[in-house]
Amino acid sequence: MSSHAPFPPSATKRWKICTGSFALGLQVPEPPETEYAADGTRLHAVAREALVDKTVPSKEDAAALKPFLDYVARIAKTSIWLRVEQWINHSALLSGTPDVLAMHKDATLEVVDLKNGAGILVDPVENDQMLTYAYMALRELEGEGLTVPWKIRLTVVQPPDEAKQVKSWDTTRDRVLEHGKAIGAAIQTALEGRGELVPGDHCRFCKAKAICPKLRGEVVEALAGTVPSSLTPAALATWLDRADRMEKFIDAVREAGHDIASRAVAEGTPGIPGWGLKPKRATRSWADEDKVLEIARKRRIKIWQDKLLSPAMAEKEHPNLPQELREQIIAVSSGMNLVRLKAGEAPMHTVKVPEDASKKERLQANIALMKFRR
Ligand code: SF4
Repeated sequence: MSSHAPFPPSATKRWKICTGSFALGLQVPEPPETEYAADGTRLHAVAREALVDKTVPSKEDAAALKPFLDYVARIAKTSIWLRVEQWINHSALLSGTPDVLAMHKDATLEVVDLKNGAGILVDPVENDQMLTYAYMALRELEGEGLTVPWKIRLTVVQPPDEAKQVKSWDTTRDRVLEHGKAIGAAIQTALEGRGELVPGDHCRFCKAKAICPKLRGEVVEALAGTVPSSLTPAALATWLDRADRMEKFIDAVREAGHDIASRAVAEGTPGIPGWGLKPKRATRSWADEDKVLEIARKRRIKIWQDKLLSPAMAEKEHPNLPQELREQIIAVSSGMNLVRLKAGEAPMHTVKVPEDASKKERLQANIALMKFRR
């Protein structure tokens, strides 16, 4: 998981390439944790408890974590030692907590990272975050006088990746030490104030993107008279790259608006004139899958193929789906959108749902919200 170290391993790619992002980031407060990140943190805690304290996760969490828990159980059988979420304090500037470290009998050190997101598929090959963990671990093992590995394996377990949930990449101790040198040099450059602003994909999660002169400069330049239809193919290639980066600046403006609107709802602070939060379109699911199967079996309705059909598929297959089954369908909104309000429309609508709310409680909250939906 990420940490609040000045140079978090999870953001290695950004601060290694854009050495100016460290100084710029100091001017911006830490943004509040997003709902998505909070869920990732929670799932990591559940995984740790399952591995260390042998607690049994809820059915839903167990399903979400199965590929990770299975993989760790498998390597635990063949490794000399295995550490789960142990903090590595490499220095005051660089520290963090790899999800799992394992030393195999053939002196291979394996770094395992759990990724819960489905949006970005993570590749372990030359993965900056994992190389940083591997480097910190190597140095720590040297300090402890333990076997120093020569082979390093970086493994990503990403349960939502249906094509390949477990991906590994083998590299060498030399490659990891080379990475250590590169990140050491990047940290030094950043601390000496000699950092450069270098935009790229890594701008996506940079907290400074809303104030970044590099991104802002490109927006201003575009507004100052660039006529897209008159650009040459070569200039278009440059501008298409810039357009991607400008989108990140625009995203940052929207994120800032979303944060202010959320705070206004939670704390009663002034919101944004003409703008407010509305629930996202809801997705439908079954309230209780076991119950649905039980009803379907009793009524002799085939509602599964390899697995239980979704409510939409079930309705397509069985246009006269009995009421008893229809009552099991719930629609849950996955979050809020910041939208322009119509004239005279109340600025904010929200319904607080406790974190441990059941699906049915979420459904009730959702119904309350639906009437405000666009
Ligand atoms: S937005 Fe991009 S270019 Fe600007 S500081 Fe952040 S990473 Fe660097």
